[in-house]
Amino acid sequence: MTYDLAVVGGGINGVGIAADAAGRGLSVLLVEMGDLASGTSSHSSKLVHGGLRYLEHYEFRLVRKALQEREVLFANAPHIIWPLRFVLPQVPAGRPWLLLRAGLFLYDHLGNRRRIPGSRSVDLTRDDAGRPLRRDLTSGFAYWDCHVDDARLVVLNARAAADKGAAIETRTRVGSMVADDAAWRITLKGPGGTREARARVLVNAAGPWVQEVADSFGGQPHIREPLRLVKGSHIVVPRIKGAQDAYVCQSGDGRVVFAIPYERCFTLIGTTDIPFSGDPADAAIGEDEEDYLLDLANRYFAQPLTRADIVWRYTGVRPLYDDNKSANASAVSRDYRFELEVGPGRPPLLTVLGGKLTTYRRLAEAALARLAPHLPPMGPPWTANATLPGGDLGEGGLRAFVQRLCKSRPAFDAEFLDRLARRYGSLVDEVLGDAERDSDLGAAYGGGLTEREVCYLMEREWACEPDDVLWRRTKCGLHMMADERRAAAEKIAKLL
Ligand code: FAD
Repeated sequence: MTYDLAVVGGGINGVGIAADAAGRGLSVLLVEMGDLASGTSSHSSKLVHGGLRYLEHYEFRLVRKALQEREVLFANAPHIIWPLRFVLPQVPAGRPWLLLRAGLFLYDHLGNRRRIPGSRSVDLTRDDAGRPLRRDLTSGFAYWDCHVDDARLVVLNARAAADKGAAIETRTRVGSMVADDAAWRITLKGPGGTREARARVLVNAAGPWVQEVADSFGGQPHIREPLRLVKGSHIVVPRIKGAQDAYVCQSGDGRVVFAIPYERCFTLIGTTDIPFSGDPADAAIGEDEEDYLLDLANRYFAQPLTRADIVWRYTGVRPLYDDNKSANASAVSRDYRFELEVGPGRPPLLTVLGGKLTTYRRLAEAALARLAPHLPPMGPPWTANATLPGGDLGEGGLRAFVQRLCKSRPAFDAEFLDRLARRYGSLVDEVLGDAERDSDLGAAYGGGLTEREVCYLMEREWACEPDDVLWRRTKCGLHMMADERRAAAEKIAKLL
C-alpha cells in the first residue's frame, strides 16, 4: 500500500499532523523510533501559554496565536489542561512596574480570552500567594495560564489519529528515504526487523533530530535554515511549603524561571536555556544548571532548597530555527517554520522547524494547508472544535465530572478517581471497566498504579516498556521510593 502521508516523529508536532490528516480522510503512517513523546515533548515546562516573556522580543503574532490556542486546547482537553494562577513578585533587579503592567494588559487582550481569568496586581503581605515567599517580597502581579500533561497530550493525539485510521508504529526507526517518482520509499527498522513503506508525501517532524533525519535522504542539504538546539532543564522538589500557585522568578539577567505546583505534592522548577550540540538523547542537566535553578528559587522562597531536595530532574532540547537575531539562546524565536521541497521527479517533503506544544494544532493545520496541492482531495480543518479522546467531560467541566465519577464508583478512593480523571477523562470507564473496588484492579504496584491500568496502557496507548508507564503515560514513578520503583518496573516488564 502507498500511504498519502508518512510522518517521521511521534512528538507533539508529528502526532498533531497525523491526527489532523487522518481526520480529513487521508491514509497516514506515523513512525516513532522510541516511545511517543520520548523526545522534547515530555521534557517541557508543561504549560499551554501565550508566553508573556516573548512580548519583550516583540513576538506579538506568536503570543496572540498561542493565547488563542490556550482557549481552544483548554476547551478540547479539559482533563489534561487546566488553568493555573501565576504570581509574579516584583523585585528591584526585575522589570519595572509599568512595563509589567503594560505587558499584562496586552496579554489579557491579545488573544480572544474567554474562560481564562485576567491579570491583576497583588499585595503579597495580604494575599495567600505571599505566604511561601521571602518577607521582602511585598507586591507583584497575578495572571493566568494553563498547565498541561505534555506526554499525555501527545499520546491522546496519537490515539485520535489511530481512531481515525492512522497507523502508529513506535519503536520503529526511519532509516533511509528514497524518492522514486511518485512516492517515497522509506526503510523502517522496528521490532519485527527491517521493512519498506511507501508514501506520496513525507513530513520530517523529528524535533531536535530533524537534521539527522534530513541527512538520511543522502546528498543535498535538505534544511536551508540553520537549526539552533537549545537545552532546557527542570528540577522537581517536594512541594515548597504553602506554594499552591505557580511563581515567576526573574533573574537579574532578564531570564525567568517558573516554580510550578506539580503532581499534588511537588514543585517543578525550570527552565534553563543553554546552547547544545551533540545527540539530543544524551542531553542531561549539569550541576551549574541545578545551582542556577536552586539559587534563583532561594532568592524568592522562604524555605531554603538544596541539591538534597531534588527528587527528579529532566532535560529537553528545543529544536529552534535560527532567526540570527540574537546571540542569546533564550531570545531565539519559539515560532515554527516549514521548508517544503518539491520538484520534478521528486515527491514532496515538508520539514518542521521550531514550535511549541501550545501551537501544535495550528502548526498541523498550517502544514496540511501547505501540502494540500500535493495530496489527494481531503476534508476541511476540523480539530478546532473536536475534543481530544476523553475530553468530553459534560456539564460543569472536570470538577463536576469527578463528582459524578465518585458517585458512580463509591467504593474507590476519591483522590484515586480524581487522578484517573486527570489522565483519561471520560475514558476512565474504559480503564476501570466493570471494577467495583480496589481488589478488582489486579496487582498494585505503588504510586497508585494498578495492573488494570498498565494493561489498558499496553492495549490502547502503545506502552511497551516500564518507563512508558511510570514516567510518560502516568507520573506514578515520581510517587514511588527507589526500591518500589525498581520492583514496579520488573513487574510491569513481565506484564508488557
Ligand atoms: P519531539 O517531541 O522531540 O519529537 C520528535 C520525535 O522524533 C522524537 O520522539 C524522536 O524520537 C523522533 N525521531 C527522531 N528521529 C527519528 C527517526 N529516525 N525515526 C523515527 N522517529 C524519530 N512548549 C510549550 O508550549 N510550553 C512549554 O511549557 C514548553 N516548555 C519547554 C521547556 C523546555 C525545556 C523545552 C526543551 C521545550 C519546551 N517547549 C514548550 C517547547 C516544546 O516542548 C517543543 O516545541 C515540542 O515538544 C517539540 O515537539 P516535536 O514534535 O517537534 O519534537
